[in-house]
Amino acid sequence: VRSKAKGRGRVTQFDPGLLARRARHHLERRLREAVREARLTLAYQPLAGVLSGRIVGAEALARWDDEELGPVSPVEFITVAEETGLIVDLGRWVLRTACFEAASWPSGGGGDRLKVSVNVSALQIAQPSFFREVLQALTDSGLPASCLCLELTETAVIGDMRSTAQLLREIRDLGVSIALDDFGTGFSSLTMLRDLPADLVKIDKSFVDKVTDETSADSVLTRLVVSTAHSLGMRVVAEGVETAEQAGLLGSMGCDVLQGWLIAKPQPDLAGWLHSRAGATAGE
Ligand code: C2E
Ligand code: MG
Ligand code: MG
Ligand code: MG
Repeated sequence: VRSKAKGRGRVTQFDPGLLARRARHHLERRLREAVREARLTLAYQPLAGVLSGRIVGAEALARWDDEELGPVSPVEFITVAEETGLIVDLGRWVLRTACFEAASWPSGGGGDRLKVSVNVSALQIAQPSFFREVLQALTDSGLPASCLCLELTETAVIGDMRSTAQLLREIRDLGVSIALDDFGTGFSSLTMLRDLPADLVKIDKSFVDKVTDETSADSVLTRLVVSTAHSLGMRVVAEGVETAEQAGLLGSMGCDVLQGWLIAKPQPDLAGWLHSRAGATAGE
């Protein structure tokens, strides 16, 4: 009743919008603390060669299990981090931690070193210090540049394509590779393919989901992306592969690398997972 007296637009007792905003502020405060105190962790999802089945690398995925809130979905906290600018500090921590952890990984099946992929956001690459931070992470961790891959989404480069392209060229000159993430879900996929220096294209899970329906647009477009990427000298990763049928079809389309639950879910202990897997294959 009092709130009514204060006029329209004032907060009433049961304002779901207010509750949501409070919860969000609270989450934001907890996240800021978690980032500052380095209380996030990384899970690593393995990537496997289509033909060999060998593990060639793994993608670092941020995880947050808050003391009070419990485990928070990355989709939720990464969105909050992007909207508040926290992603800059969060992303810096992920980059450094992934480099340090990957520096101590065992080698893959063929004796080759595994690559670690790190997601980077628009705000992060817009920092003038970004190039220096990549170099510093490599130097401090001792990880060879050829073992690092940076994943960018289309929204990450919506700003200025030319300056992004220049920055990416400098990063590639270090020996780091670049992947176009969630490919096909943005508005400028072809422009990105044309203008950005990249080594890999990651076909989004939404295409992979429909790939076995060979008359679907998703399947036709997947085929197109594979051949276009190959013509431009890029390799293709399929994301979110869940079934052997999808893997078989993606393989026949010429896809190079698979990532998804069929291979493995994101692993909190990648070295342990590799170890038990090596044991399992040795016993076959
Ligand atoms: P993404 O980069 O496209 O990462 C792949 C997401 O797909 C991961 O979700 C992974 O767990 C999920 N996934 C992989 N294979 C399968 C599958 O076979 N089936 C299904 N249903 N899902 C699968 P996650 O870990 O929830 O991450 C969500 C998104 O959050 C990531 O999407 C990425 O964009 C973002 N993200 C995570 N960590 C970071 C980070 O450190 N920095 C930034 N900037 N973004 C991050
Ligand atoms: Mg990614
Ligand atoms: Mg992705
Ligand atoms: Mg995706």
